[in-house]
Formats: sequence, C-alpha cells, structure tokens
Amino acid sequence: MVQSSVLGYPRIGENREWKKALEAFWAGKLQESELQHKLQAIRLSHLSKLQKKGIDIIPVNDFSYYDHVLDTAVMLGIVPSRFSYEGHGPVPLTTYYAMARGSREAPACEMTKWFNTNYHYIVPELDGSSPVLTENKPLSAYREAKEQLGIEGRPVILGPLTFLKLSKGYSLSDTDEWLERLIPLYGQILQELEAEGVQWVQMDEPILVTKLEPVDLLRLRSSYDYLTKQAPVIRIMLQTYFESVDYYDELVTLPVQGIGLDFVHGLKDNLNSIKTKGFPENKVLGAGIIDGRSIWRAPLDDKTAILDELGKSVSADRLLLQSSCSLLHVPVSLRQENQLPAVLRNNLAFADEKLDELVLLTKAVAQGESVVAKTVEDVRQAAQSLKASEERSRGDVHLAIAAIREQPLERSRPFAERYAVQQAKWQLPMFPTTTIGSFPQSQEVRRARQLWRRKEWNGEQYTGFIRSQIDKWIGLQEEIGLDVLVHGEFERTDMVEFFGEKLAGFAFTQNGWVQSYGSRCVKPPIIYGDAAYIGEMTVKETSYAQSRTRRPVKGMLTGPVTILNWSFVREDIPREAVACQLAYALRQEVEALERAGIGMIQVDEPALREGLPLKEAYHAEYLSWAVRAFRAATCTVQDTTQIHTHMCYCEFHDMIDSIKQMDADVISIETSRSHGELIRSFEQETYELGIGLGVYDIHSPRIPQPGEMIAMIERALRVLDPKLFWINPDCGLKTRGIEETAASLRNMVEAAKAIREKY
Ligand code: GLN
Ligand code: ZN
Repeated sequence: MVQSSVLGYPRIGENREWKKALEAFWAGKLQESELQHKLQAIRLSHLSKLQKKGIDIIPVNDFSYYDHVLDTAVMLGIVPSRFSYEGHGPVPLTTYYAMARGSREAPACEMTKWFNTNYHYIVPELDGSSPVLTENKPLSAYREAKEQLGIEGRPVILGPLTFLKLSKGYSLSDTDEWLERLIPLYGQILQELEAEGVQWVQMDEPILVTKLEPVDLLRLRSSYDYLTKQAPVIRIMLQTYFESVDYYDELVTLPVQGIGLDFVHGLKDNLNSIKTKGFPENKVLGAGIIDGRSIWRAPLDDKTAILDELGKSVSADRLLLQSSCSLLHVPVSLRQENQLPAVLRNNLAFADEKLDELVLLTKAVAQGESVVAKTVEDVRQAAQSLKASEERSRGDVHLAIAAIREQPLERSRPFAERYAVQQAKWQLPMFPTTTIGSFPQSQEVRRARQLWRRKEWNGEQYTGFIRSQIDKWIGLQEEIGLDVLVHGEFERTDMVEFFGEKLAGFAFTQNGWVQSYGSRCVKPPIIYGDAAYIGEMTVKETSYAQSRTRRPVKGMLTGPVTILNWSFVREDIPREAVACQLAYALRQEVEALERAGIGMIQVDEPALREGLPLKEAYHAEYLSWAVRAFRAATCTVQDTTQIHTHMCYCEFHDMIDSIKQMDADVISIETSRSHGELIRSFEQETYELGIGLGVYDIHSPRIPQPGEMIAMIERALRVLDPKLFWINPDCGLKTRGIEETAASLRNMVEAAKAIREKY
C-alpha cells in the first residue's frame, strides 16, 4: 500500500532548544554528558512526533550535533591533520566542534551553501586524512529509535558521490582513487545495518540534479554495484532533491530498490521522464510531493492530480509520498504563531503541518480523493481570501510594475559621461576610500535597540541615542581620513528585516526560525502581499549624518533581489514580479534620499547570486530579471547621483557580465574568498565602471597592515583602471570591535595614500 515519509526533520526544536543546548555547551555551561542527554531528548521527541502524526517511514540519522556533512566526514575519519585526531574510534566531540568552529590551535574548516538553499555545511577536507570508519552513526540512530520507540527507522546517509563532490583538498585526477577509499567504508556501514535487520536506507545523492560528466555516472554505477553486492538484502532509496534529474535513464537502471525524485522543484521534467520513459516495475518511487522548502499550504487537489499521473506508471504499493527534501529548510510549527494576520496564517504550513499534509495525501491515494475534499476546500478558500485581501490588491503597484516591465531601465547617460559629472561634483582624490555601511554594533547599540523595542525607551530617547552614535562615527571617519562616509546602520538589526518592517506586504513570525549554519538560525520575513512603499525608511538617519559633515555621506539600502532571496516569498506570482515590486518600492526611497540631498546611494545586493538556479539552463533568465530589478530601483536618479552597490559571500568570477549590466557607478566586492579567481577573470574581461575590491577580510579580528593592502591593491591595478578604483574593506563592519575597526581603517587610509603617491 502507498506510504508516507519525510527526508528529514528540523533539528532546532520548537523553541530552538537545540541551539540553546549547543551554545550552552560551547560556553562551558553544560557538561558533555548533559549535552548528550538534552540532544537525545530532542531527537526522541521529534521521532515520536513523526510516529504520532502517522508518518509511515521515519528517517533516522538526519539529526546532527551541527551539520550532516560534517557528521559524514567525521564518521569516515576525514579529519584534517591540524585537529590532531589519532585515527581510531569515534572522533571526540571537542574535535568535531573544533572542525566546525575553529579552536585556539586550528582554524575551522570552510563552510559553504548547501546547493541553492540558505543552509551552510562544513566542507570536508580530504588532504592529509586517511579514511577509516570511526563509528556507524546511522546504526546507532537506528537502534535508538527502535529500542526507545519501537520505530523501524530509515537511516539517512549522505551518499558517496555527493560527499566526494562536496569535498575539497584533492585533485580531480584523484577522484577515482578517493572513491575507492571511501566506498568500502560505505559498504561496511551498509553491511552492519543489514546485519541489524535494517530494511531501507535513504542514500542522499542530491548531486544528481546538477551537471555531471559521463565519468561521474560511471562512478555512480560502480559505487552502487559494489554497495549492493556488499549488502544485497538491505534496500536503498537513492534520493535526489532540489531539482529534476537529467540522467533519468541512468538512475532507473542502477541496482537500487528505490529512486527518490522531487516533484515540486523538478516537477515538469521529472514527471515528463516518468510519463515518457515509464518507471521500472522492480523499484519503489519516492515521490517528493510536499514542498520541503516553502511555507505555504499545499493545494491537495493539484497534488492528487500529479499522483494520478504518476499512478499510470507506478502502482500504489510501489509509491512512497515524501517531502520534496528535508524539512530542515522550513520552520518547525505554526502552533505558536498567534500574531500573524489570519488571512495569512490560514495559508501557511510549516514542518509539522506538512507532516499532516503528507499523511492526508497518502490516505487520499489509498482511500480515494473524497478524504481530502474538505481540506482542498479549506485551502482553496484561504487562498481566495488572501487573493482578495487588500494586501494583494494594490492597484498602484500593479500598474507601476506593468510599466517598469516595458521600460529599458537605463540611466539618462552612459557611465563614462555621468562618472565625469560626478567627479567634477565630488572632487574626490584618486583611489577614494570608503566602507561598506555598518560600523560595530556594540553591546550598547544592541541594548538601546532592545530598550526601544520593549518600549522602555520612547522614540526621542532612541533617536537621541542613534544620533549620538552617528556623531561619534562621523567624527571618527573624518579623523581617520575616509573620503566617503556612512551613517553606520546602528538602527538596523538585520538588513532585510529592517526594510521589511517598513514596507507593506511583509509579515514577521514569532518563532519561524530556520537553521542557517551550526547553531545560527534565521527568521526570514514572509512576503505575502504586494510589496509597497509606505514612507521614508532611511532618510532621517542619512540626512542627519550628512548634516554633520561636509564630506559626502553614502545612503544605504538593501537591494530588491537580496530582500527577495532572504525571505519566504508568495508563490501566486513569479519571483520576478515580486522583485519588481520591491524594486519599485526601493526606487521611491532612492528618490527620497536624492531629494533630501544625498548624492551617493548604495544598494546592497550580497544575495544576488544566491538566487541562481541549480540548472545552468535557467541562469540567464534569472540573472536577466535580477539585474533588471536592480536597475529598476536605481535608474531614475540624476547623473550627478552616484549609485553604489556591494556584493559578498560567494564567487563572482563567472558573473562579471551581469555585474556590468547592473550599471552601478561603483561596486564594492568581497575578495578574500575568491581573490585569485576574481582578479584572473578581470584579465580576460575588462571592467570599466567604478570598482573597489575589498582590501582586507573583515571576518577576522586581525588588524591588516598597510603593506598587505598595498600589495593587494597593486595586484588589482594590473587589471583594473586606477581611475576607477576604490579602496574599501570586504564587507560591513558590524560584527567587529570598535578599536580594531578604527585601527584597520587607519591602515587602509595609509595604504591609499601610499598608492596615490605612485600614481
Ligand atoms: N551595508 C551592509 C553592511 O555594511 C552590507 C552587508 C552585507 O554585505 N552583507 O552591513
Ligand atoms: Zn558584504
């Protein structure tokens, strides 16, 4: 009979108990045994929740003490030598956390984004380590669930090909050698699970939705050939997610017993593969039907229609209804959300509500669609009310974005001409110095914001405080000798939340946390209505700062694409349309700043690249509307108004064309992470707009010396025009200390002066 499953459940707990336990342990306030105890309680409560809800096949080993990729590395003995692990038995928890977070002796392993999500994993480093099975974590997880709760769990294991592809520290020519070292360990894990009587394992191979070489498919086949020979009885669900698979023919002929496909994010192509090519009769289809990444209720009638289609090729007893990916990417539960507008709340489904949807849908397949009739009607009505609500009926916004879509979105003059006008107006020296926007958010600053939020301070007290901070930092920036100043962003906790709270169309949950990396959780805003401008958002603070100095003060906004990519977004209109609405709202703020006499405006787009689709075929379309959104927000200003932008967090070398098309007068880009590559790509492609490559890494408390920065600038000037080059740090300084920030900026200004002498 048809059954239900999920690919993983959030670790953080309904009240972020997990996060709190980890942090207490790191702070030395919990003993290791207490931590183990607390985490076990959380883990078991999740399992028993899934059991009570009626999920048929319950994942185990999806839980983690930090990150599942790190777990896999540690399980396979992939511990870089700097952490001095002696090479047998379970890796100690202190070593595990040292890899994740760094220790006094050794810097942490690198962290990077998990596919196209906002979850970050720890990158395994293969060099210098010799793989060995240090413990069978899936086995312990399976035993625990069985012994404690009588659950016949399905261990989740990160598959060998994906693990290897996500690792670093080996050359491509050694791929096969590494696979040969790792595969026997996987074989041993499966053998032990088989001996224990485990029926199914979920082998996550999300790498299969990305572009692979033919040789990778051979590796895949030989790996799974080997594994099924090692453990012939256990059944493997080869699990993919986040997109459709391009190698369907290959997958369905692998010697595994189940194939898991995403019928949300790869719906069209995956469904098409099944329809045109059929599905093997000896395999189970894991149908990812409930979206593991969105917070919206599923229209169950649409879902049953898809399942009907699948039913033509797959009989019900070989069908498993699943979440499209792990539920790790959505908040835990709606239960505590009692302050959301009802018209919105009725349309939401977080992890726990998704469990209900899966169970219900499974029932519908088994017993007929009448079982879901009432829910279908509920969802339809909720959607209808939201659609009819004022929030989604802003006629002025609809008209404006229809117009924007028709416009070329160009500044009135090309860059070279307007830059000359701007130079004449500002009279800045060669190599102007500036910062990215935020200054240290000291204890004092955070406390002030809290007092004000809790209404213990009135508006006047709070404004007075913010102004005193602005005064202090304007004074300091002048004294340090920076050329373009900023107000410091002391009034902002988060660069998206701050704007979301001031625009229409947004809602904020009380408890809608999602794990971002380690114990760090984020609470993304929900864009559920038409995003619209209500009134000035940044003009007061910016003009105040400008009134305190004769040097230019740069206004500071978060760009439309970044707001979009760091929020949960309505799905009734395309993302492009939401970006366009946000751009139109931001354009009004840009114009308001300009009217208030602010002549330089920075529109940050650190997350522009994060929205890049996994499949290359969709890149151009995304980049085109993302760039247009930025231009829509910024193109209406006068020639003399200088538009800046800033990007960080990822690699930019392969998107220089799009960056050019943004047509910002000045861009500042983080360089420390992809330095070499970025400079190299400027060798191949000229960049003829204002540009500042970050001259020092703000992620470290270390104070950079002028010499290092001079070297870095000179390297950049081999490929970039000195007349267009700006000098700035890599990113905002809000996480840094006051003293170190001032010292670093002093050295930066000194470096700029030295460079000016040479040119
Ligand atoms: N203006 C922001 C700041 O300085 C930019 C933050 C970012 O790039 N992530 O904090
Ligand atoms: Zn940045």
